[in-house]
Amino acid sequence: MPELPEVEVCRLGISPHVLNNKVSKVVVRNAKLRWPIPTDVQTLIGQTVKSIDRRSKYLLLRFDSGTLLMHLGMSGTIRVIDKSTPVIKHDHFDLQFINGTTLRLNDPRRFGAVLWLDNHQDELGLLSKLGPEPLGDDFCYGYLFEKAKNRKVPIKTFLMNNHIIVGVGNIYANEALFQAGILPTTKAGAINESRFNKLTDIIKQVLRSAIEQGGTTLKDFTQTDGKPGYFAQSLLVYGRAGKECITCRATLLEIRQANRSSVYCPNCQQ
Ligand SMILES: [Zn+2]
Repeated sequence: MPELPEVEVCRLGISPHVLNNKVSKVVVRNAKLRWPIPTDVQTLIGQTVKSIDRRSKYLLLRFDSGTLLMHLGMSGTIRVIDKSTPVIKHDHFDLQFINGTTLRLNDPRRFGAVLWLDNHQDELGLLSKLGPEPLGDDFCYGYLFEKAKNRKVPIKTFLMNNHIIVGVGNIYANEALFQAGILPTTKAGAINESRFNKLTDIIKQVLRSAIEQGGTTLKDFTQTDGKPGYFAQSLLVYGRAGKECITCRATLLEIRQANRSSVYCPNCQQ
């Protein structure tokens, strides 16, 4: 599943190709994504991309009359190709520009989204209830501690709650808690302020380094002979249950929390 770093790398990868470029054609091959692709995406024809932002895992292409919101869901990828590139299975949506450049969304599982926010109005409320961006200034010392007061929910579940903070998915929650030495089952409200501040720094580091690693694969966005995979990363605990902890060589354990895998070191995480 694409997580925040993949979406940010996607934003960085597509921006130089589509920024200030004018839309010439919108192709919807299959409108049945998480929500139906609305017919008013056709109003984009003749409009120019003014900026490309990201909020949580939503890509936001800004035009004068509104915002095109795109989400990669569970399995979506976006390629930058020429409009003449043959269509492959699950290529559901194209945004074609006057110079022939095309943004093409491929999404086998169709949990992704393409929505038009007319006049930039977020009528579904997808963006309005989100917590702060982990790499933004609003996610600062004291924030998690304040939000966690009296909360009995496990810290891992707490971190993955989009209303608390966006973009800390399962992989990065596992990695950050390992690096911070916090057991994923610890009640959020039982963690003191200095440990939360350390965790805040680590979350930012973990996400920044993932974005940097992904940046080296930017060329994949213009591959025409296939679709870009999500980038490989050096992960310390995620996907390593039963293997040795890189710090103390104890065996990493795995439990299920909120139906997601949590991998941790029983020694290093207390
Ligand atoms: Zn360990």
